[in-house]
Amino acid sequence: MTQLKNLLPAAAKALLLAVLISTTSSSVSWAEEEIGPAFAPPVTKTMTPEIGPGMRNNNSNFIVVLDPGHGKTGGHYSGCNFVYNGVTYYEDEITMKIATYTKQYLEQFSNYTVYLTKDSAEVTIPLDQRAAFAASVQADLFVSQHVDSALGNGTVKNAYGVSSMAPRTGRFNNDLALQSQEAANTILKQLNGLGLNNRGLILRDSENGTLFPDGSQADYYAIPRYSQMYGIRGFIIEHGFLNHTSDLTLFLSTEEQYKALGEADAKGIMEYLQKAGKSTFVQTAQNTQTAQNTNNQNEGAVTPPSVTGSNGPGVN
Ligand SMILES: [Zn+2]
Repeated sequence: MTQLKNLLPAAAKALLLAVLISTTSSSVSWAEEEIGPAFAPPVTKTMTPEIGPGMRNNNSNFIVVLDPGHGKTGGHYSGCNFVYNGVTYYEDEITMKIATYTKQYLEQFSNYTVYLTKDSAEVTIPLDQRAAFAASVQADLFVSQHVDSALGNGTVKNAYGVSSMAPRTGRFNNDLALQSQEAANTILKQLNGLGLNNRGLILRDSENGTLFPDGSQADYYAIPRYSQMYGIRGFIIEHGFLNHTSDLTLFLSTEEQYKALGEADAKGIMEYLQKAGKSTFVQTAQNTQTAQNTNNQNEGAVTPPSVTGSNGPGVN
């Protein structure tokens, strides 16, 4: 007991430190904004109407949650932007368009229910809430859609093409991580088919000591990390670099191009889900906790209130 008491404040301090580090570290690429707080809130049913304005198709089997990256905060767009020929291209607006086209394409098929985590580039939602929403509707696939921009020097600045921040395999919820990687690769292959360079999976570990419930190293990026913790397939797809002229002009500057990107995502999502099937909602720290609580309640319910006395109230 004394040990526990001593441990708890230490854990709280570590968590606070982790959050501080994650919010103050200088960034090399825009994607690093995606790290978020270490832990996401528990899933509750009330999250559905609060966050997800997406329309529902009642005849569906697969549930897909699309997450248009970023959005306006403090009067400014929070994603990356790039000025080319006098036009400013904003990641927030582009991701909203891509997600909308993906949703439209999938909804042609009656066996898909598609939700967006938000319905406007003018608003943003914390990353943990986006993932919690996807978990609350038990998404078969949770895809966070982004556009890249490289601010660094050398090879980073010259980067081009598509990539995915996905969970690493070989640790907490390994099978789930493997499924997420497969799904991400299937979508990247579709985008590659449009002519975009495929940079593949970007697997990155927490750099501030964040651990999964089993003590293994957590993923650095929030969306794959939370997805692993919630037991859902989830990852980020980056749709090319705004600051790379060929990516921008060939893939990221017209409505037709956004539609092509959105539909390529949809085709990848369908190809994966038709092959892999529905997600088995994996036991996680959060819902294990719920299960344990439920068990305790059940034990209480079946245990007579008094061993020696007559049946207590409520038994019949
Ligand atoms: Zn982004």
